[in-house]
Amino acid sequence: MKKRTDNTYFRRGDRIESHIIDRLGRPIKDLRISVIDKCNFRCTYCMPAEIFGPDYSFLPKEELLSFDEIIRLVRIFARFGVEKIRLTGGEPLLRKDLDQLIRRIKEIDGIKDIAVTTNAVMLVKQAQKLKEAGLDRVNISLDAIEDEVFQKTNGRGVKTKPVLEGIEAARQAGLPIKINMVVKNGMNESQILPMARYFKETGDTLRFIEFMEVGNHNGWNMDAVVSKKKIIEQIHEEMPLVALDANYYGEVASRYRYEDGDAEIGIISSVTEAFCSSCTRARLSADGQLYTCLFATSGYDLRDFLRKDYSDEEMTDYLIHVWEGRADQYSVDRAQGKPMKGNKIEMSYIGG
Ligand code: SF4
Repeated sequence: MKKRTDNTYFRRGDRIESHIIDRLGRPIKDLRISVIDKCNFRCTYCMPAEIFGPDYSFLPKEELLSFDEIIRLVRIFARFGVEKIRLTGGEPLLRKDLDQLIRRIKEIDGIKDIAVTTNAVMLVKQAQKLKEAGLDRVNISLDAIEDEVFQKTNGRGVKTKPVLEGIEAARQAGLPIKINMVVKNGMNESQILPMARYFKETGDTLRFIEFMEVGNHNGWNMDAVVSKKKIIEQIHEEMPLVALDANYYGEVASRYRYEDGDAEIGIISSVTEAFCSSCTRARLSADGQLYTCLFATSGYDLRDFLRKDYSDEEMTDYLIHVWEGRADQYSVDRAQGKPMKGNKIEMSYIGG
């Protein structure tokens, strides 16, 4: 048994009990794992076609973490507090045999929830298989309900039909669904009400995400942000809303329900109302770099540890050291006008 003075943790057999907290008192609960850096879309704010063109070098297969390597890391993270796993990309459904990875994560002691964030186009073929493997829920990215707008935002001219079919496939498979819409002035602000009306009917939770300056190529500026306040006002005027409490500590979206029904919306307001103080998330890139903030400029190379035969104990100690040293609060710093130095990692690399 081992005890530290600043962060109380101790080993009981193979398991580390209690909690590890960072320098701002936040535990680690969620691990977001990018399983591939490729995507079949070219969303303008994430993977713009001008940058990610035919000559762009995506990661070669041998540089991606293997399923065995991912499973080993999840086991270690689960030992000191991670309960939720979210699989992201790029587009995670492009990773071959994703269902097998989910099946193996599901067996890990301590993991309570596995989610996937996807553009849904491949769900028609995969939803049932993923559900049977143990997937708990899906978040589906959809930035417009009208084809002309959606075709521009996804950069590949894809109409909404294949996404809506993917959503239906997830529903048929019994997967809980949330729809994520990034709202950007000049891109899709016209879609706030049409999207709200559409998903109020279907009963799926729709979450609006304030446009953030993730990566270095998405052309962010404050004028492009549609604030939480504006989104709420617009919807409330036509479809009155009631505010709801958070479901759990660290929930990123503020929740609202329609007055005349059960359907919910959520707003992820990381620009106008930073929620860093309860941020329990770490992110793992497809090639095994660990990032402790979405806006980090550098990561920790866990693949190197994995491929150099470090023991689980050594890796555990290293990860505890990393988390204990964490003081990230980029959104708070931005709100306070503190400049950031260095290039940020791209969203397509760590899945947002
Ligand atoms: S800016 Fe970083 S620390 Fe703040 S909520 Fe986002 S990921 Fe967490």
